[in-house]
Amino acid sequence: MASGCLRVPPLYRAGCQTPRLVARIPPMALTVTLIPGDGIGPELAEATRRVLDASGVKLDWEVVDAGEAVMEKEGTPLPQSVLDSILRNKVAIKGPITTPVGVGFRSVNVALRQTLGLYANLRPVRSMPGLKTRYEGVDLVIVRENTEDLYAGIEHMVGPDAAESIKIITRAASERIARFAFEYAVANGRRKVTAVHKANIMKFSDGLFLESCRTIAAQYEGKIAFEDRIVDNMCMQLVQKPELYDVLLLPNLYGDIVSDLAAGLVGGLGVAPGANIGADAAVFEAVHGSAPKYAGQNKANPTALMLSGVLLLRHIGEQAAAERVEDAIRAVIAEGRTVTYDLGGSAGTREFAHAIVARLESVAATA
Ligand code: NAD
Repeated sequence: MASGCLRVPPLYRAGCQTPRLVARIPPMALTVTLIPGDGIGPELAEATRRVLDASGVKLDWEVVDAGEAVMEKEGTPLPQSVLDSILRNKVAIKGPITTPVGVGFRSVNVALRQTLGLYANLRPVRSMPGLKTRYEGVDLVIVRENTEDLYAGIEHMVGPDAAESIKIITRAASERIARFAFEYAVANGRRKVTAVHKANIMKFSDGLFLESCRTIAAQYEGKIAFEDRIVDNMCMQLVQKPELYDVLLLPNLYGDIVSDLAAGLVGGLGVAPGANIGADAAVFEAVHGSAPKYAGQNKANPTALMLSGVLLLRHIGEQAAAERVEDAIRAVIAEGRTVTYDLGGSAGTREFAHAIVARLESVAATA
């Protein structure tokens, strides 16, 4: 096994499928922190909670709030009580949280990842049977570094008419995320890791990221293939021939942008799940944001957050339940009768969730 791989959380480490979390929790119920978020978040969180409750796994929910509404009450959009809850429970699921554009408080989403050391952003992107898109058979996994790069938040004005943002890339964080990607690839039977960068232009920062990826790749030679792509070319390649790619390994900003592009290949942001994983905790959330224009309308697609819940179930070792929920979601989408507007239907968030719960219940009744 590669040296230093103990830094990779157990479920994502090759040859170690037993999650450490399971051994420490009571056998009957696991408490999960639930952050509903804002915009479309609360509706999606409720739908996801209903589906996970129907999965057969006993979960207790500890609901805590973060974001603008809390800011007014507590003077911070990310109260310590929220961080404490996640650290206590080790697993959380969160709805999207709005970040003011250009002004106001810094992103709660980024702060959560940085404060809790959730260094790996894992975003599987898979075609859905029955869902008409321009591509078929897409099966990619995006592994995005989650703690540094331009998201370090070091920026300032240089006089009144210029601004400067500092891009931080370290060998330690780059090697850590590269090791995560390779361990994930080995543990999940993937064949290739592609590092994505702009090292032709940013020779120091992206150059260091690429060098770090190459160092780790050498430790997996013969097991997992490795290649690299410049990010602009990668975008074109993904649009033209996504089937050539498998696990994509990216620094923070490119990872964010390429995630939305990849979501577009399989049906849009409504179906793109994600996980933020660290050594001490994991927070599961959709790739999409709070889509304020759809807030409170029972209209948004809860699939992405539900599939993030599937990742949560896998993370806690509930593989069978994860498969049941994923199968139910995919079956309801394939049937196409009770799906939301973005998937070509007219069902509401609640009706869609109800169809998935009904499917889970009917499968359980015939088992
Ligand atoms: P967004 O992802 O919220 O929405 C973009 C568009 O995608 C929407 O207008 C809608 O057409 C579609 N969409 C997104 N989610 C959908 C869903 N579940 N069902 C159906 N359609 C869906 O992106 P944005 O408008 O750029 O950002 C809105 C806010 O969300 C911003 O404040 C941003 O900072 C925040 N944001 C938060 C997170 C997070 O919480 N992790 C992530 C991204 C953006």
